[in-house]
Amino acid sequence: MTIKILPPQLANQIAAGEVVERPASVVKELVENALDAGASKVEVDIDRGGHKRILIRDNGKGIDKEQLTLALSRHATSKIANIDDLEAISSLGFRGEALASISSVSRLTMTSKPAEQNEAWSAMAEGLAMNVDIKPAAHPNGTSVDVVDLFFNTPARRKFLRAEKTEFNHIETLIKRIALSRPDVSFILKHNQKVIKKYRAHSETLGVVEQKSKRIAEVINTSFIDSASVFTSKYEQVSIAVWIKAPELCVSVNPAQYSFVNGRMMRDKLIQHAIRQAYGQLLHPEQLPEYVIFIELPANEVDVNVHPAKHEVRFHHARLLHDLIVKTIKDALDSFQMHEQELALD
Ligand code: ADP
Ligand code: MG
Repeated sequence: MTIKILPPQLANQIAAGEVVERPASVVKELVENALDAGASKVEVDIDRGGHKRILIRDNGKGIDKEQLTLALSRHATSKIANIDDLEAISSLGFRGEALASISSVSRLTMTSKPAEQNEAWSAMAEGLAMNVDIKPAAHPNGTSVDVVDLFFNTPARRKFLRAEKTEFNHIETLIKRIALSRPDVSFILKHNQKVIKKYRAHSETLGVVEQKSKRIAEVINTSFIDSASVFTSKYEQVSIAVWIKAPELCVSVNPAQYSFVNGRMMRDKLIQHAIRQAYGQLLHPEQLPEYVIFIELPANEVDVNVHPAKHEVRFHHARLLHDLIVKTIKDALDSFQMHEQELALD
């Protein structure tokens, strides 16, 4: 075989293998785009677990008519421009790959109207076809991305789709996590035309902790927030806010465990390890810690460019951060114990 450069659409489809694993990964990319566009309201409309259709609407800043086609191309992003930007990412996206990847394995229509443009335009891309069709459309300020027939042209991928209910559960879990990260944004999740989840935006005048508490109560459940206490700590430019449960209240199945780093949801081993270590002997072996933790640190202290779907990050001062989390949680647990001793003395 001779060596050839792959046609761009085929390259997109290969890249899609990394970012578009299932309907929930499409939803993740599109909702993150909406948040990066400054939306205060995001609607996620799913048909048949996303097998048939995934429609995301936002009221964000929109995309100019001239940029619609470009937005669908690979390595096209408005979020970073040079290597310095890559060192300090403040947006959720930056790889410029999601729309190109998703459109290479589906029939995708993106409709958008920036506030300063009088009319809306729509761009349609379908699977491996190279041409993007642009048409006038009707749309309020903001953007909609409509993804139909996911994996229609990649039967091997389609075969791996699970039952509609399973795929929808993945989407619902994802929306809950994203909703936790942004209590200032409204989210609506619909499945087969029915509203499944509705989270109203909480005003920033509440203060961050109160705002987050309200959203945690809505997303996880009120019993978590009733039995958890919130602790905050700050060390130089790192701040931590954590809601945790007293050890005796921790469960052994399905614990609530949510971590966010600079607003990005994570399943991070370092954070999990630090929290477990802080509880130490206070938990029985079968008990699991329950927590919601938000860590904010300067963007150049964390590398988010480690994993294509950005599930993992790398901390530049991992040891320090680990110890800071342990200390925050230990102080919190001490105050639980002091509270108990006071009760015992009463
Ligand atoms: P990335 O998010 O990594 O930049 P994407 O392929 O997800 O790459 O999107 C490409 C570009 O399209 C973004 O950089 C942004 O400028 C634009 N875009 C995508 N979705 C939206 C949206 N909902 N609202 C406004 N602009 C968007
Ligand atoms: Mg993106």
